[in-house]
Amino acid sequence: MKRKKKELTFEGIGVYPGIAIGTLSISTRSKVEIPKYQILKPYIGYELRRFDRALLASKKQIEEILSRIDPDLQKEVFSILEIQKMFLNDATLMSKIKNHIVEEQINAEWAVEKVVKEMEKFFEKINDPYIRERKEDLYFVANRLVKNLRGEREEDIGESGRDILAAHDLSPLEVVKLHKAGVKGLIVEIGGKNSHTSITIRTLELPAVVGVEGFLDHAEEGDEVIVDGIHGVVILNPTRHMVEKYAALREEYERRYRELRSYIDVPSVTKDGTKISLLANVDFVEEIPAVISHKAEGIGLFRTEFLFLNRDDPPPENEQFEIYKGVLEKMAPLPVIIRTFDLGADKKTPFTLYQEDNPALGLRGVRLALQYREIFKNQLKALYRAAEYGDLRIMFPMVSGVWEVRRVKKLIKEVHRELEEEGKSFASHVPIGAMIEVPSAAIIADMLAREVDFFSVGTNDLVQYTLAVDRTNEHVEYLFEPLHPAILRLLNQIAESARKEGIEVGICGEAAGDPVFTVVLLGLGYTSLSMIPHSILKVKKVVRELDSKEARELVQKLLLQDTAKKVENVLLDYIEKKLPFLKDLE
Ligand code: PEP
Ligand code: MG
Repeated sequence: MKRKKKELTFEGIGVYPGIAIGTLSISTRSKVEIPKYQILKPYIGYELRRFDRALLASKKQIEEILSRIDPDLQKEVFSILEIQKMFLNDATLMSKIKNHIVEEQINAEWAVEKVVKEMEKFFEKINDPYIRERKEDLYFVANRLVKNLRGEREEDIGESGRDILAAHDLSPLEVVKLHKAGVKGLIVEIGGKNSHTSITIRTLELPAVVGVEGFLDHAEEGDEVIVDGIHGVVILNPTRHMVEKYAALREEYERRYRELRSYIDVPSVTKDGTKISLLANVDFVEEIPAVISHKAEGIGLFRTEFLFLNRDDPPPENEQFEIYKGVLEKMAPLPVIIRTFDLGADKKTPFTLYQEDNPALGLRGVRLALQYREIFKNQLKALYRAAEYGDLRIMFPMVSGVWEVRRVKKLIKEVHRELEEEGKSFASHVPIGAMIEVPSAAIIADMLAREVDFFSVGTNDLVQYTLAVDRTNEHVEYLFEPLHPAILRLLNQIAESARKEGIEVGICGEAAGDPVFTVVLLGLGYTSLSMIPHSILKVKKVVRELDSKEARELVQKLLLQDTAKKVENVLLDYIEKKLPFLKDLE
């Protein structure tokens, strides 16, 4: 009889407040045990044939999966498999493995590992996130080979019935692929709550915990696991009692969420009648039905980067035009703010490749767009053409100064001229906005406000850059404090500058969707909040309990506190008295 494994609890950072219970699949780029032994000379031929058989089996498996995939519907999965196939068909790579077997008289698994290590060094020297993703594809291939050498059955995530995936690290794109493959929950050893990976996880509504250090040292394929994204806890090999407890908790959570549906048709106004617009953040076109079903009042942030990722060339103008037009038509007459591509940092493409040691402070967002003018102009052309089909507003990410906005405006004029010459019809008057997410932009918000029609505050990056806290690093997650006095002051200053200059201002960072911050943002004067569709109803419930004068008074008190902890204490005190139901919302 199989011995029952011991229940282990791990703490991490809850990313999306759901609960998943299921069997575990370990990311193929995590470590697999590699047996290591010498091969006697007479058996080398046998070892080489064993490797050839595993290679053949691996190729067959990839072909078989490829034949079952619709390349149009599952583009990302399809291209990963194509890359794996390419590695397996790389004769030089495969003969390197064989050379190790022959020359060092070692077993095939060990030889595979050696070559992966050599390749790792090669990839590390390149030091570029996009190329690094190819390294991950190599891990997939190596693991497949090792599994075949050991006669283990290869299982595909999502098809194996194993619905929770654990990995050391995941990129935003991998999250998308896993979601499409049917994964229901995620455990990641590293990462912070506000990384792009975590935002993608939330967008796709996947219960997940990140920053679960050391998890893979204890977990095995097929283990039973509970992912509690509400409390940031992972339970490995739970007892029956624990599974029952969590199943009940999940039901309760889902019941509360269903209850929130009663807020769907009520207006988002405070008790004293202040209107607060609740808009949606969107990363993929596929999310539009969720935006509509949650009755968002528009799209406050459409991140376009995902249209550019995982392809060899940027999407052509017409392809983008059709996508933007489709979004605007579906949302009409509601407003849609489309952000031009925020590539760079952790979102790299082969057509915007460059070397840099400090990507977060490097060529990212509008800086990158201004360097890759033709790609940027193509996107602007598509946007201005699409603007005829709905209420479009265009905004620019990572603005750090007035000069950048002026350069963008010059480029827009050029784009209009070219569109005219090309005889294409377009809307020339589209409001343009700057994202305020770099401290310099926040500090000169009054000056920037004279250059644009609206602001949208990206609290994720504003916190990262103001507090010098890498949003992707779980070790400094405790310092990622949107309630830090410095952040409150900046948010106050941005709102005031916008008000004085008479331009609209909203918030589209993750703080906008956290009901704990709603009273603070309202008190600071923000009346437009953009968040993942899932958060809209709970924020609306809070809005309807608030009084704007009271919120302003609270914020005046918060602005006097000298540490984030003190701000939090005053805020929690208020919440306990006025919004006691909040603790049940997550
Ligand atoms: C932000 O920085 O707050 C933001 C909304 O942009 P992103 O998360 O895409 O960097
Ligand atoms: Mg940002």
